[in-house]
Amino acid sequence: MNELKIFQKTESLHEGRWWEPMPDGRVHCYLCPRHCHIGEGQAGFCFIRVNQGGKLYSLGYASPAALQIDPIEKKPLNHFLPGTRVFSLGTAGCNMGCFFCQNWSISKSHSDQVRSTHIPAEDIVALAVRYGCPSIAFTYNEPTIWGEYVIDICVAAREAGIRTVMVTNGYVTREAFHDIYDHVDAANVDLKAFTEGFYGRTTLTHLQPVLDMLVWLKEETNVWFEITNLMIPTLNDDPGEIRQLSDWILQHLGADVPLHFTAFHPDFKLRDKPATPPETLHAARKIALEAGLRYVYEGNIHSDAAHTFCPGCGKLVIRRSWHDVLENSLRDGACPSCARKIPGRWTTTPPLRNAALLRTLEQAAKKYGALNL
Ligand code: SF4
Repeated sequence: MNELKIFQKTESLHEGRWWEPMPDGRVHCYLCPRHCHIGEGQAGFCFIRVNQGGKLYSLGYASPAALQIDPIEKKPLNHFLPGTRVFSLGTAGCNMGCFFCQNWSISKSHSDQVRSTHIPAEDIVALAVRYGCPSIAFTYNEPTIWGEYVIDICVAAREAGIRTVMVTNGYVTREAFHDIYDHVDAANVDLKAFTEGFYGRTTLTHLQPVLDMLVWLKEETNVWFEITNLMIPTLNDDPGEIRQLSDWILQHLGADVPLHFTAFHPDFKLRDKPATPPETLHAARKIALEAGLRYVYEGNIHSDAAHTFCPGCGKLVIRRSWHDVLENSLRDGACPSCARKIPGRWTTTPPLRNAALLRTLEQAAKKYGALNL
């Protein structure tokens, strides 16, 4: 467990969910499959869930360390409100230990090592409305570990007609899964590899809980979800592994789940591997299409495989350049040429401007006038 140097006044902390006291004064956090047993004055593996006085508190609650407006294609989500902007936030900490983390400056920091702004859940929604974003993404670090804040934002967002998105590693327990995902509209789940060896050695976690979570998403929720596989030369780019991964998705999740193969660049503790050659992504995409998946994309490179093609007649229905949508010819979510339905969530709704939201909007405008988004 991680020793906490700075204690906060208990009354200023947000008590967490998904924990139980242990007879020896430690607390058992069962939010993610790590099941940390956290001693008094210590934090769990993720840094932001702490035991203070025998209770578990969430230091991530209402404390975003990163706020930004992104294109939804950056999450990446290609079948969810294409061409729109998403109000994005993340906190400190993470429950995985990926050596290749590309957001390590916040994900590998304690909450007192990052500059965070106190923003209540309803103010996040007001800011999304103010900046013209039809959705909010929990992203940059692992949002599962600040699940209490995620849920409160989702509840306020639904009341305002704003959608919500989890960008997640999928490492969540059965006990917490529905508490979080019953409130969420969309997700991008990182399936980082298809071997236990990679998960164990390079992310310090396990593969099976992520596969379980994907099946729960498919079978037990209405969440729209897509999958990302970051390809790292020699570690997870074996064609046989890609075929197994594709076959598993086809068998357990179906042919319509979009799969994004994305390019790695050297970062954090994994600097001895080269950037992923585009040919590796092309080969992986070919394997996944041959396996029977219908929507397979390439990311982090300029590629024609960023476009969406109709699997019925082959027509290019959404043309993209990097994260920009250049052309979207879908008609009511269907191919304009052969009328085949393309799965996804294609339409936005304007925010519901009720009296409570307008009041919060006004207050948020005063409080956060200086946010440079
Ligand atoms: S959420 Fe954090 S504290 Fe809880 S089990 Fe996972 S890593 Fe440990």
